[in-house]
Amino acid sequence: MPSCQEAAGLMMRWQQPHVIGGEVRTCPGCGVYQDWIVFCLRDDSIWLRCRAGHETKEPGLDAVWYCRNSGPVDRFHPTLEEGLRGARRWRPHLGH
Ligand SMILES: [Zn+2]
Repeated sequence: MPSCQEAAGLMMRWQQPHVIGGEVRTCPGCGVYQDWIVFCLRDDSIWLRCRAGHETKEPGLDAVWYCRNSGPVDRFHPTLEEGLRGARRWRPHLGH
């Protein structure tokens, strides 16, 4: 698995529900469960931000997860193959 340090400081749109460990994440501030912005910070922590601007640290995720799941629309992914695989898993309509 690549170190993915290059992912630090990036962010991506995450419009579908966020399922982590079999549970759908909801915003503790307003209860929404989709349309997130996902931030990857320099300390490898992942933060979720909802449409209303509430930010929540997500301890179940890290930069490696970010790399694996950021799709080809993002500027960085470890390899093209990796990016495409992530996109197909999470965004099936982009998988052609
Ligand atoms: Zn919220």
